Amino acid sequence: MKYKSVNFFLILLFLMIVTYIIFNNPINLYDLVNQKEISNFSIVWPKIRILIEPIYSFIFYALTLNRNFYKPVIISWILWTVSIAILYSLLNKQALLKWLHNIFYSLMLLFTLFSFVALVPIPGPRLEKPKNYVAIDIHSHTLVSHDNVAPDYISLKAHIWQGYDVFFNTEHNHSDGFANFPNKLKYKIVYPGMQMQTKDKISVLMLSSKEFNGNDYKNLSLEELIRKAHSNGMIVIMPHWWKWHIKTFSELKNLGIDGFEIYNCGYRNFNINERDQLIKFCIKNNLPMFGVTDWHGWGYMSDVWTVFEGDLSVNIEEQLAKKIKTNVILYRQEQSDSTLRFVFEPFCAFYYYVKNVQLKYFVSFIIWILVIFYVVFNKFFKYIKKYLSLFMTLLYSFTIVYFYIIVKNISTNNIVIKSVIPMLITFCLLWFVLWRLDDTNKSQKHKT
Ligand SMILES: [Zn+2]
Repeated sequence: MKYKSVNFFLILLFLMIVTYIIFNNPINLYDLVNQKEISNFSIVWPKIRILIEPIYSFIFYALTLNRNFYKPVIISWILWTVSIAILYSLLNKQALLKWLHNIFYSLMLLFTLFSFVALVPIPGPRLEKPKNYVAIDIHSHTLVSHDNVAPDYISLKAHIWQGYDVFFNTEHNHSDGFANFPNKLKYKIVYPGMQMQTKDKISVLMLSSKEFNGNDYKNLSLEELIRKAHSNGMIVIMPHWWKWHIKTFSELKNLGIDGFEIYNCGYRNFNINERDQLIKFCIKNNLPMFGVTDWHGWGYMSDVWTVFEGDLSVNIEEQLAKKIKTNVILYRQEQSDSTLRFVFEPFCAFYYYVKNVQLKYFVSFIIWILVIFYVVFNKFFKYIKKYLSLFMTLLYSFTIVYFYIIVKNISTNNIVIKSVIPMLITFCLLWFVLWRLDDTNKSQKHKT
């Protein structure tokens, strides 16, 4: 069995290297507004990447997926994981109970990986740009929005990590988030804003040059909201229009909208034809366009930066109000949405990975595969397997305590309280069960 495994592994490694040699052709940064590649901007990966390449590249892959891909991708990864666990049990001629154990264990590993994607604070690429450009993110939330998992200081860190000079804090339907940021950074790095739901069942981004009370803008129609915001010196931007398809671009412009999102990391599923129409419309009508993180604290990696030629010492909202020309810089290639792609998702993910990866990171990836293989076929692997469950139990326990501490003073019914902590407790308990199962199996074997 071991001999066969070594052969299988060598073939796998060989195929990986061949795939890299054939397909490697990295994408360049490009400007979504004019669809052209750009040369005076670049991205820098954090130093940690080379040390943890397999997990790093998986996190980046998962966090930059189209929103409409989540479901088929997750199903595909689950089916492949279960199939491999079954195949492994079959080849090793194991008893049925052991089969179930293998499936359970491998699914736990997969779901743990998914939870890492969402929660582990590893930074994505950072934008490097010419000095006269300002990089902004006009749409981001913190813990005081009901669906966000990270407090203000993490939002600051995440934005700085990724190379944004300035961002707007735009909580859902209130303006309470801005007050939590340190005073010395207000109007330097962070600006006040809000994502307000209107009576028309759409929500819009309000960006302000000074602090305001969000309650003054409740229960208004879009028209009333825009008029009131304008009279108070704010600008109003349409976020992810493609989420609702409510009102035409012209209708929105006639209502006074000051600009549009054309890319949103939470909703990457903007139909290309519609997007092109919107870009043309904005150019024709001199409306600024934005690519945004719409950051909710899930992961710390984005692939878009809105930049404009501006001055960081001048109030950013006032510069935006002059209908400045923006560039929406993307580090991204369009991915196939065919059924075949999702059937073979792990292989497709690897294909997109080798297509873009730089050689040094790919070398790190291969070294990791070699190390993992060495460990798996070594005698001490059984101890790793056993103590990994214990390690995960402890890791999830600490994470529960961490989230408990950050939400204990939050009054709103936040997703951390409703979903994240219960999910983490489940993970913690399941890993604990796996650890105890392994332990009792070992001691029973000892007795017989
Ligand atoms: Zn939002």
